[in-house]
Amino acid sequence: KETLDKGLEKTKTNFLSKMSKAVAGKSTVDEDVLDELENVLVSSDVGVATTIKIIKRIEERVARDKYLGTEELNGILREEIAGLLSETDSGEGEGFNFNTEHKPFVIMVVGVNGVGKTTTIGKLAHQFKQEGKSVLLGAADTFRAAAIDQLQIWADRTQVPMVRQQMGSDPASVAFDAVQSGVKQNVDVVIIDTAGRLHNKVNLMNELSKVKKVMQKVIPGAPHEVLLVLDGSTGQNAFEQAKQFTAATEVTSLAVTKLDGTAKGGVVIGISDQFKIPVKYIGVGEGLEDLQVFNKLEFVDSFFK
Ligand code: GDP
Repeated sequence: KETLDKGLEKTKTNFLSKMSKAVAGKSTVDEDVLDELENVLVSSDVGVATTIKIIKRIEERVARDKYLGTEELNGILREEIAGLLSETDSGEGEGFNFNTEHKPFVIMVVGVNGVGKTTTIGKLAHQFKQEGKSVLLGAADTFRAAAIDQLQIWADRTQVPMVRQQMGSDPASVAFDAVQSGVKQNVDVVIIDTAGRLHNKVNLMNELSKVKKVMQKVIPGAPHEVLLVLDGSTGQNAFEQAKQFTAATEVTSLAVTKLDGTAKGGVVIGISDQFKIPVKYIGVGEGLEDLQVFNKLEFVDSFFK
């Protein structure tokens, strides 16, 4: 909880100072204030479509109550954003729903290079181990030697086994080996890293579907989660990547990283609303412990405290 507040400090300070400017010298929420509010939300990376929805909700509220004082605006906004997020099935603060029927539980991790995919895998491995689960990693991003070595560093740090092959080998073959080792070693969770190249949609689609298919030869229902990692500090780029990856494969969960160094944390609200895919984790730093299980209401609250 403390880390969450610390992690979102920039977003919050930026947001609250814009909010107070938006209502400066105004006692009532009128058209001007609503216009200002719209600017605040868009410039906080909430995204245009979600901003429009939120503004509409506030307008309805003003129409219904006839009068809305500016001093009440933060509270109302908090309620309306929370209400909007409640309509999506985003994180309730539980992370992955581990089903004990699935052993190993297989997680395929996708996302563009540099978004924090490797770091997120390391943090997840650490978290699962803390919960008493055994973990195995598969280094199926075979395109870059650095990707394999980076993941190895996290495997060593968290003391979990990792299946790897040399650079340039077939990602599907690594995924197959990893899932098979996971079964043989009777581990609880297998996490597979995948290549973060975005040559084009067809290429990405083919590669991911091939990796998925070989996993299914070992475990018919695998992967049990496809986690897309997005860099929250890139704001609207994260939206674009979410669009591309959801078109290429069935993404079941999202992790939004780097929320600590950025004022663009509002992107989580927009992405959660637009994609209807649960945000399960957020990254709030570079360390092992800096991955939070996402809880949408806590997240919204932390903006207004
Ligand atoms: P990948 O290429 O997607 O695997 O990205 P990496 O995991 O190697 O991360 C890229 C950079 O982002 C590294 O310097 C990480 O330390 C950093 N990083 C990852 N997650 C976070 C986060 O939540 N907060 C911050 N501040 N940095 C992060």
